[in-house]
Amino acid sequence: MNLKTLFLTNNDCYKSGKRHMVKGIMVHSTGANNPWLKRYVGPDDGLLGPNPYNNHWNTPKPGGRSVCVHAFIGKLQDGSIATYQTLPWDMVGWHSGSGSLGSAKNANNNGYIGFEICEDDLTDASYFNKVYTEAVELCAYLCKKFNLDPLADGVLICHSEGHKRGIASNHSDVMHWFPRHGKNMDMFRAAVKAEMAKTDTPAQTGHPIIGKPTATVGQAKEWAKNSGATSLFISLADIFWKLAPSAGVDPVVAYCQSAKETGYGKFGGVLNETFKNPCGLKTKSGGSNSDPNAHQRFTSWEEGIQAQIDHLALYAGAAGYPKAGTPDPRHFPYLKGTAPTVEQLGGKWAPSTSYGTDIVAMMNKLKATKEPAPAPSPGVMYYVQTGAYSNKANADAQYYKVKAAGFDAIIKQSGGLYRVQVGAFSVKQNAENLAAKLKAAGFDTYITTTSGTQVAPGHEPKQAAKPVKQNKLLQ
Ligand SMILES: [Zn+2]
Repeated sequence: MNLKTLFLTNNDCYKSGKRHMVKGIMVHSTGANNPWLKRYVGPDDGLLGPNPYNNHWNTPKPGGRSVCVHAFIGKLQDGSIATYQTLPWDMVGWHSGSGSLGSAKNANNNGYIGFEICEDDLTDASYFNKVYTEAVELCAYLCKKFNLDPLADGVLICHSEGHKRGIASNHSDVMHWFPRHGKNMDMFRAAVKAEMAKTDTPAQTGHPIIGKPTATVGQAKEWAKNSGATSLFISLADIFWKLAPSAGVDPVVAYCQSAKETGYGKFGGVLNETFKNPCGLKTKSGGSNSDPNAHQRFTSWEEGIQAQIDHLALYAGAAGYPKAGTPDPRHFPYLKGTAPTVEQLGGKWAPSTSYGTDIVAMMNKLKATKEPAPAPSPGVMYYVQTGAYSNKANADAQYYKVKAAGFDAIIKQSGGLYRVQVGAFSVKQNAENLAAKLKAAGFDTYITTTSGTQVAPGHEPKQAAKPVKQNKLLQ
């Protein structure tokens, strides 16, 4: 599927802004020999090509009629096939007329997404096969997004089937065209179901969104740093690890999704840091991917991250969701349980079918990242002390006495005292062993964890000077 967005914001239907709960899809074809999207979608975005008559539907009443659909499928200027979404999916479209059951029960007011396939002269099998495949993929995408079963009665129908049900006007589309190329709506529905199965990842083989943290915040920060993340993005990991567990969401899922959505905090798309929007969440009314104003601004990163986590928990079908009071602007009940695994987010949270597996690849890297060893901090040291004196001369005297007895001493100053210490040990037992030796040599000792600033001993006191001086003379 080649899905683009160009909302028909000048159309009266768009401007009326009525919302519905999506319950089904109605397939139309235009009934005019004009396969070019530019006939209906405009103005030219560089892909559609110019419409010299400017008679596209981005006008209050196209051709004087109150009409608007959610999407068109047809040809771009270069001849390739694309789908243009022209209304938010949850906005009421004007595509089915009234039908025999009246306006209140017609498809417009009954939650049907309506899209048009641009017709050519109906004879070109190659064009037909391309737009048919595009329509199958669009419907598979929408059925997944809105949790619809295309085979259930009345869910995925064409305009003429809608007329038979009394919910649409008397048009023949698409059954005046599909059978010319060997297709009908039952085949179309089956193809949509098969397409959905093709892109489905069984829950048991995927990575669940709900679960305990599968890595630590330290691993996450190291991974983000190694991936070139901004310092802001690295610091946001703390908020993810604080908020996700209480929603039951694995913070690794949410943090990696945010890395994908924000380019590791570098943004560079239509959003920037000031939105405090970690995952490109749109406003309640939504809008184009390229419109910054279609995206939610949050007042704090905590609020933005809470919104993302609530949105994920809703997709995953977490207990207690949908929940009241969430900052998630798009907390729609129909989303509940549509993607229990990260893989299943593909084609749902975002149109790309590889969206989920891209996130899983990032998660695997994060989980394989080793948490950096904590910076070596000086642990507690045990000092063997043989005296503490307020008078430096007394400390000097003790220092020389200890030295004379064959022990290596130093003097340290702290807390107004001169401490004569013999050895420093990280293991207390070793300090105790030395203390025992000092005691055996006649010194009073005790073990302290107080160190101090080393100071030089003064001159050797006269009393102890003689033997030392003799020794020196002998040398
Ligand atoms: Zn129709």
